[in-house]
Amino acid sequence: MARTSSTAYRRIPAVDRIVDSPQAAALISRTSRPFVVFLVRRVLEGVRRELAGNPRKEWPVPELEDRIQEALLQEFRSWARPGLKKVVNATGVILHTNLGRAPVGDTARRQLAEVASNYSNLEFDLGRGSRGKRDVIAGRLLETILNCPGALVVNNNAAAVYLILNSLAEGGEVLISRGEMIEIGDSFRVPDILRKSGARLKEVGTTNKTHLSDYRQGFSDKTRLVLRVHPSNFKISGFTSKPSLEELSALCASRSVPLVEDLGSGCLIDLEAERIEPEPHPRESLSRGADLVCFSGDKLLGGSQAGIIAGSSRHVQRIRQNPLFRALRVDKLALAVLESTLIAYLTRREELEVPVVRMIRMDAGLLKERADSLAARLSGLPTHLTVEAVEGASVIGGGSTPSQSLPTWLLCLRSSRCSAARLEALLRQSDPPVLARLDREAVLLDLRTVFPDDDARLIDILSGIE
Ligand SMILES: *Cc1c(COP(=O)(O)O)cnc(C)c1O
Repeated sequence: MARTSSTAYRRIPAVDRIVDSPQAAALISRTSRPFVVFLVRRVLEGVRRELAGNPRKEWPVPELEDRIQEALLQEFRSWARPGLKKVVNATGVILHTNLGRAPVGDTARRQLAEVASNYSNLEFDLGRGSRGKRDVIAGRLLETILNCPGALVVNNNAAAVYLILNSLAEGGEVLISRGEMIEIGDSFRVPDILRKSGARLKEVGTTNKTHLSDYRQGFSDKTRLVLRVHPSNFKISGFTSKPSLEELSALCASRSVPLVEDLGSGCLIDLEAERIEPEPHPRESLSRGADLVCFSGDKLLGGSQAGIIAGSSRHVQRIRQNPLFRALRVDKLALAVLESTLIAYLTRREELEVPVVRMIRMDAGLLKERADSLAARLSGLPTHLTVEAVEGASVIGGGSTPSQSLPTWLLCLRSSRCSAARLEALLRQSDPPVLARLDREAVLLDLRTVFPDDDARLIDILSGIE
């Protein structure tokens, strides 16, 4: 074995030999020699790995060189086009963190393009002709929509939680109910963020029940803040209780300690028509007594990645003065999208302009029509797939509305030629990649999260699957 593989290895040409070839010279003239040397090394490593896994493989030298040249071109192409690209989300998870959470609507996209490709008044006060602040841009809209005196925007909600704790509780204690010591996906763990913020955690109550008296007993002269955290992607049900915000707020006020609620999602729409249990509205949390709330810009709000902090102007002012505010500041492109999204809410056009809201509200009857029509079009094509429209369920995702779903219609695909797992992989490798749900024997495409503009491409991809 060892002898065979070493003779096979000897056939692999030297790096220089490939780098000096005419094909490589063409690449060098378009890029640089060190880059092409780097690409050649990667390609040759790949060949070596392939031979190691298959030591008896006999490749005549000219064929091997052709393969290497082809691989070099492929490798170059893979570096010359962006790795971040559009995918078709057919999973039915509306807020899919792995797939970029909230897509941006047309109005926000136009605003984004305008701001991205021009200079803007990001930090310039056009009225006074002098330096301005970027964070007042969305702040004014947030204060109006949430009916509160202060608001600011940072990079994301994890940053918002961190910045609040660091600004208001560094060196002191923060009370949290044991039932709210959560980890949400993507390594956001409340106790870890708290420790890094320089505040000390003081747990109160138990996992399922925390009483007002638990908070009362938890207070000491070192208590700086009480944090409530929306459990987001899980639900404790049964024998549970926690004090109302009003009760907790009265207790906090009597000790002059701010009450902060991390809402996670920050839902501004009514989910009643969808028969989904309501998510706490930030405006309601504030009116019921939270001094500050924070939430994500790209979860149920449906805007850009951002962390929104809103509530008392005194606390917001203090947070703004923290030097870390500068380190966690929001990017202008995210701000452009967020502002457009908030205007959509203010002008009650969210269902038209915010894709996440549109998808949540999408009627199952219309989804059925689309599924039937796609299934009929595919059945008329010569393909090894059988396609059926079936009923199913979509989820909102993004750590909101756990264990609840929206009725939907799915395209259920089976192939006479390959397994469901193989079919799912082929769809994932198509252009654009189509991400589907894998059932045991079938591949399911949920049309709720597929933009209708992509239906035609979906038909092309499905009918072209070998
Ligand atoms: C999602 C979530 C966060 C983190 O928000 P990002 O915007 O992803 O940083 C923090 N807290 C809760 C409760 C969440 O659900």
